[in-house]
Amino acid sequence: MPTLLRHGNGGPMTNTAEFPVPVGDLLGPVIRDLARRSGRDLTRWLDQVHRLGGCREPLRLTGHSTTIDAATGEVLARYSTRAEPHGQLLIRCGNRRASRCPACAETYRRDTFHLIRSGLLGGDKGVPETVRTHPRVLATFTAPSFGPVHRGPGKDGKTIVCHPRRTGPSCFTWHKNGDPNIGQPLDPETYDYTGHVLWNAHAGDLWRRFTIYLRRHMAAAAGLTRKEFGNRIRLSFAKVAEYQARGVVHFHAVIRLDGRTSGAPLAAPPAWATVELLSDAIRSAVAAVRIDAPEYGSLAWGRQVDVAPISPGVLNHKTMLTERAVAGYVAKYATKSAETSGTLDRAIKTHEMPRLHKMGIPDHTVRLIRTAWRLGCTHNRPDLAHLRLRDWAHMLGFRGHFSTRSRAYSTTLGALRQARVDYRQRLQIDRGRAFDPDTTLVLAHWKFAGQGYTPGESALAALINGGADDPVPPTSTDALPAPIDSRTEAAK
Ligand SMILES: [Zn+2]
Ligand SMILES: [Zn+2]
Repeated sequence: MPTLLRHGNGGPMTNTAEFPVPVGDLLGPVIRDLARRSGRDLTRWLDQVHRLGGCREPLRLTGHSTTIDAATGEVLARYSTRAEPHGQLLIRCGNRRASRCPACAETYRRDTFHLIRSGLLGGDKGVPETVRTHPRVLATFTAPSFGPVHRGPGKDGKTIVCHPRRTGPSCFTWHKNGDPNIGQPLDPETYDYTGHVLWNAHAGDLWRRFTIYLRRHMAAAAGLTRKEFGNRIRLSFAKVAEYQARGVVHFHAVIRLDGRTSGAPLAAPPAWATVELLSDAIRSAVAAVRIDAPEYGSLAWGRQVDVAPISPGVLNHKTMLTERAVAGYVAKYATKSAETSGTLDRAIKTHEMPRLHKMGIPDHTVRLIRTAWRLGCTHNRPDLAHLRLRDWAHMLGFRGHFSTRSRAYSTTLGALRQARVDYRQRLQIDRGRAFDPDTTLVLAHWKFAGQGYTPGESALAALINGGADDPVPPTSTDALPAPIDSRTEAAK
């Protein structure tokens, strides 16, 4: 038993006493599951699971790699997954969604936080500290109404009376937070489901058009041609999508104004480019954007657009948001998806369409999914085929990215992942366990062999991860060169 209850790095488990299920009950099937393997396999498996940092549905890979001295061509090490338990290497799934993999989603949330913050604070990851003095705002873009829905508490958290009306659909309830009626239409029969789904499906286009209009409106306000404006100013964006309770997507975006001078990509903007000019242009651009949807009419942003300047520093001024608060706020949405509306977090299959209610999906969401399915029929609606509404029915029509940044905003997720890989590799080189990437080449061939744990493995992994506390979460790529075994393989 002591061999089982150890981390891959040899540290003892600490909190097995807190685990609610008797360990013996769990380990029975686990041991049966692992009994086919040698003791070395078990140790290696435990090591792999520890490196997954709590990933719930790891990917299984088969393949091999060869590490070569770049100067001499000498083979320094060979690694093959044939040496691993089941002949497979486990790596993190990297899923962004907390509903799918809490551990990988947490890594994603932290990365997004750093990305947003580095675009606001600068001084790190290639963004100069002077960006703190540039005009910056946090703007929220909403969808228009497609019919009245039950309302929850207002922004200040105070409950309000829902829809106290004498004529038409009404509701005199004061809905508290968590009330499942919030976001559901007062009258589903008259609710504009087609408009709602088409709006979600065009939200990405509305955003793109907004960014074009924003530049035009700012140029016009400054009395410049678009070309002159483009030569002097660069607009940077970082945005995340969030689903409102009614199942419509809206965007939160950090918008930053930089100057463009040769040699200094993120220079201070000219004095006339103020936060007021930026805020006014955002409001007028939002109001001007229109997109025509076939057989429906024009789609536009909702009238409600919040634009709040972001203050440099940490003081919490009443009307100004602080940099840290903004980064936390934006990152919070990065790991959420459409599941707040009770939909599925995966694509819907044809045979599931008649059973959506039985699957526990709320009626309003079922109607949205069915509308997307109907509009997604390429035979009846070839004009909407490019929206691929059946593939995105579970997202209620939205097929855009959940978090996007323009190139100049800050660093990228890829760069952050690479920084973690580099950090791990550096640690291992220092311990004499890996090869210096500057003087070696790795030739690798990997194949996808499946995803997830066996039931026995999953019980044991849950036990291990209850005590895992890794300050640097491993990434999907850093497990690949498997430097720990390279030496032993090479020695064979
Ligand atoms: Zn994962
Ligand atoms: Zn109501």
